[in-house]
Amino acid sequence: MAKKLTIKQMRKVLRDAEKHPKIMRTWDFIESRLRRVDLSDGILEMGPNCNLACPHCATECSPIKKGFPSPETTYNLFRQANKADIEHISLSDGEPMRPENRESVGIASRFSHQSPCCIMTNGVFASTLESAEEWFEFLKQNNFDFRSGRSILTISFGKTYSVPVQNYQNINQAIANILPKEDPGVFLNYKLINLGDGLDNVNRANAVLRTIYSAFGKPRRHEYLVYNKNHFRVRAYPGKGKSIKMYFGSCDPIGRARNLDLFNGHFKKREFTSNDLFISTSSGKIFIVFNNGDIDICNSSAQFSRENSYGNVNHESLIEILNRIRRDKVFQAYKLAGTPFVYYLAQQVDPEFRVTGKVRQDVTSSVLGSSKKRGQIREYLKQEGLIETYMRFAHFLDLRKRPKS
Ligand code: SF4
Repeated sequence: MAKKLTIKQMRKVLRDAEKHPKIMRTWDFIESRLRRVDLSDGILEMGPNCNLACPHCATECSPIKKGFPSPETTYNLFRQANKADIEHISLSDGEPMRPENRESVGIASRFSHQSPCCIMTNGVFASTLESAEEWFEFLKQNNFDFRSGRSILTISFGKTYSVPVQNYQNINQAIANILPKEDPGVFLNYKLINLGDGLDNVNRANAVLRTIYSAFGKPRRHEYLVYNKNHFRVRAYPGKGKSIKMYFGSCDPIGRARNLDLFNGHFKKREFTSNDLFISTSSGKIFIVFNNGDIDICNSSAQFSRENSYGNVNHESLIEILNRIRRDKVFQAYKLAGTPFVYYLAQQVDPEFRVTGKVRQDVTSSVLGSSKKRGQIREYLKQEGLIETYMRFAHFLDLRKRPKS
């Protein structure tokens, strides 16, 4: 590549490419994709054992699955995260706020000022006001960063979480009682997992809003509600301080959600081609730390299999492991043009290879979840060259039909 684009120029190239897909055939696009910030967000697997077995769970966690991260794994990840330029670590894929993960949550809290984290909880921990207060006292004692807005507590809820609304009442009330000087809008948000039932979503959102106002004071302003079929966002403005946000999380037919009837008719099973798949703006951004400390690249909503570890955070430096990922041609290909490109590559090494499924993630995990396929793609790229192969791929794409990214 002859010239070096500025960050501003690279952002413009990537934005423009969405409107004018022909840009995807230029050197500027390649440079902008390859020089993007990568591996900036980590997910620490808190299960797969979970205190719920939600029917929509993308990672198929449940009480009968075995495994949690050890405190050692959590410590080794968090102590190195800042130096490795990790922007954010989510405690997810299992339930963090439970006795088995308490020590890990304490470690994440103590590091949260230098290595921001998101504790993603299902709210089961708050079955009584006392248990909710006890957990917030624990976070307070462990110096959780309640003030900067970079560390967050996200309460997931929705139709398939078997959690009574009283738990959300307990969470909000416990925050008001234990953290009276903190502004809940800075660190607390709710995420409603959508299962396509608009009326149910609105009823549940309203029930949680009532618990917010009951704990933090009467609404100053009416909540801002955007309701468009099944899409909405809510801002609750209680008493004083920042708004408490309620996000809308989508649910795809992956993991256990494959079995949900509600997807019938919405997602047709079909054989994919690279032309059916969009180039995700986030490919290459996320990595997963499995509960044993093994690290792999990850897509945004489902982890890959454990057989492809690039290293273990308990035995090696995190920076070294991430740099090993960055040097890997398979990762570079994924970062450059996401799932469509790695699918194309898998078909170059095996012309018979096809994926039949319902969503893009089916293709991503069929290709990148297989260590054999990764090895074949690596060898292929060694022979053919990454950029040269990408150019052939981009030439082959029917840019007129690009699905919206
Ligand atoms: S969706 Fe969350 S709470 Fe439900 S089983 Fe999966 S990890 Fe557990």
